[in-house]
Amino acid sequence: MKKIIITGGAGFIGSHVVRRFVKFHPEYQIINLDKLTYAGNLANLKDIENEPNYKFVKGDIVDAQFIDELFGAEKPDAVIHLAAESHVDRSISNPLEFVMTNVVGTVNLLNAARYHWKGRYDETRFYHVSTDEVYGTLGETGMFTEETAYDPHSPYSASKASSDHMVRAYQDTYGMDAVISNCSNNYGSYHFPEKLIPLSIHNIKQNKPIPIYGKGENVRDWLWVEDHARAIDVIFHKAKSGETYNIGGHNEWQNIELIKLLCEIMDQKLGREAGTSAKLITYVTDRAGHDLRYAIDATKLKNELGWTPSITFEEGLEKTVDWYLANEEWLNDVTSGHYQQYYDEQYTDR
Ligand code: NAD
Repeated sequence: MKKIIITGGAGFIGSHVVRRFVKFHPEYQIINLDKLTYAGNLANLKDIENEPNYKFVKGDIVDAQFIDELFGAEKPDAVIHLAAESHVDRSISNPLEFVMTNVVGTVNLLNAARYHWKGRYDETRFYHVSTDEVYGTLGETGMFTEETAYDPHSPYSASKASSDHMVRAYQDTYGMDAVISNCSNNYGSYHFPEKLIPLSIHNIKQNKPIPIYGKGENVRDWLWVEDHARAIDVIFHKAKSGETYNIGGHNEWQNIELIKLLCEIMDQKLGREAGTSAKLITYVTDRAGHDLRYAIDATKLKNELGWTPSITFEEGLEKTVDWYLANEEWLNDVTSGHYQQYYDEQYTDR
């Protein structure tokens, strides 16, 4: 039986990846390694926590000794690495935390893999999950391909770019088996409500202003999180060592247009008169260094490994709204305590 450590498995995307691997690959033993920061929540995995091929380990990837001991004790065959500080706004307030988790944490994992997998690199795999933000920003045309030069602008994207480079360096220098994927913005269930879509759903429900940065003209490419988890599954199993794949939905939306669509769906779902939720839209001072447009060209993944998104954005957004409306308890739990303090600091002076 193969043993896989999935880091950050209690977070938004990680929980979907853990669920998918536990359910669809009973031949694997899945170890979810997570520090449980504000973004990690074991309630995301309630439905699979008692499965025989699942185990949770609480720990910090920044702690090199702990990671080394974990590799020694568990003897994993693969790592799927998602643990990260992931919110751009938080990286602007506290860049060092992003360097520690995203860069140092990744190098700690690579070191443990390099040491414990020596002599069997061809039987092991280090899969690093990364973001399209490493490529920087686009003008009105063009798309990011796997050949696009890195040009990160925020402390978050710079830390992810650094960790991508370290993974490639370990693959080139030591001959370790490694793959990387760079994905566009995800949306779906279990998304922490500091990010645009869940934050807006939460505020619309409560009749609170929906904060939109600048004029809402920034463009993002959105992908349903379960399609991302499926892409990770495909790449993990089929990609050759050293390969990089871009993952995206071919689904670009200006923030303001996306929020207007969300408002329409919310009006219908909540039985409100059309136009009610849109009145909550409130423009706030733009994020510093806000990238204008991201767009992913996922042709390589489609042509080489046969992956394409399974649902349209309209379908995915409706599913997402339904999930948030049906899971009030989850939303209330994660929006109590520290969340409120963060929210107040982020938005109330604007
Ligand atoms: P998230 O913030 O929801 O979850 C991150 C998880 O990592 C949490 O469970 C947290 O507890 C854990 N974690 C943080 N620091 C840790 C540490 N030091 N040790 C162990 N665990 C720690 O993030 P997400 O949105 O699910 O993103 C997951 C990964 O996917 C990240 O690497 C991110 O860069 C990448 N990514 C995200 C998106 C997106 O749209 N959210 C898009 C592309 C790539």
